Amino acid sequence: MNLQALVRPNIWHLTPYSCARQEYSSGHATVFLDANESPYNAPLNRYPDPLQRELKQAVERIKGIPEANTFLGNGSDEAIDLVLRVFCEPGVDNVTAISPTYGMYEVCAHINNVAYRPVTLGAGFSLEAERVLAATDAHTKVIFLCSPNNPTGNTLAREEVDKLLERFTGIVVMDEAYSDFSAQRPYRLDLTAHPNLIVLNTLSKAWASAAIRLGMAFAGEEIIELMNRVKYPYNISLPTQQEALAILGREAQVKEWVQSILAERTRLMAAFARLPICQEVFPTEANFFLTRVDGATRIYRYLIACGIVVRDRSRVELCGNALRITIGTPRENDALLDALKEYKA
Ligand code: PMP
Repeated sequence: MNLQALVRPNIWHLTPYSCARQEYSSGHATVFLDANESPYNAPLNRYPDPLQRELKQAVERIKGIPEANTFLGNGSDEAIDLVLRVFCEPGVDNVTAISPTYGMYEVCAHINNVAYRPVTLGAGFSLEAERVLAATDAHTKVIFLCSPNNPTGNTLAREEVDKLLERFTGIVVMDEAYSDFSAQRPYRLDLTAHPNLIVLNTLSKAWASAAIRLGMAFAGEEIIELMNRVKYPYNISLPTQQEALAILGREAQVKEWVQSILAERTRLMAAFARLPICQEVFPTEANFFLTRVDGATRIYRYLIACGIVVRDRSRVELCGNALRITIGTPRENDALLDALKEYKA
């Protein structure tokens, strides 16, 4: 891979902002008069570590990816935006993605004035690598993939993903926000074999910490260095770094939560399949499932009136009359089932 040919020239030549805490890093100082901070209200008076070293070491213990291959962002949404800003020249370059998928790839592309080329998934929401490759041209810098995919829930076939990784000369982003709920081998373990791969993870799903906004991108060192150059200097707040360290220290608890969500997923999907309104429940490896029902939008509104919010995906490609249901606690799932049993078509 020729990285320089993929990166926007202004980013390749960028001299990044050098912040006070980055310039000083020997660790012996006790008097900090370098960053125009207040001396009061410790520890919130101090700027946080711009490269989040301690947190990245904790991430490495869980995910097995070295610090130099890890970018931490304000949610994975920040990483998605940075990939576009690093690689895509506005008004010139384009990106390709599967459809349907997570909506932020398209919104971020449009915010950056980068053309977005969605390629409709095949039967059973399957990835067809040849069709994705056919949608690319010399200005396609990035292909966005998501597995397990949102909103469909299925994983993408590894042979098809591998075809893209091997034959596409640009960057392949594999968003694995939901991989903790899946039995598939995560793509972050294949990073060394694929220099053009960027894998996204998040603490917002299985790690139960959407509020703190902590996303991860794993990639080759040079790509991570480019993302670090472009990000805001102190993009992860101290409270977020502290809460992230705390939840990463509770891995056993998180695994229990995941097991309980998976057990509830099996139960809720089986109960759904028996509801008279349900036409189809699609296979899933995420903490949600997609279901085709009779009159999705009417059911969605009925549930709102019952105080229950699900996601109406019926206007999304391939998702006519489909609702996306997140797995909740047993009580929440029962509330949903009880409401649907009372529903009159
Ligand atoms: N990727 C996917 C596939 C998602 O579904 C979501 C959130 N719904 C995100 C990324 C965003 O994650 P974060 O909270 O880390 O920004």
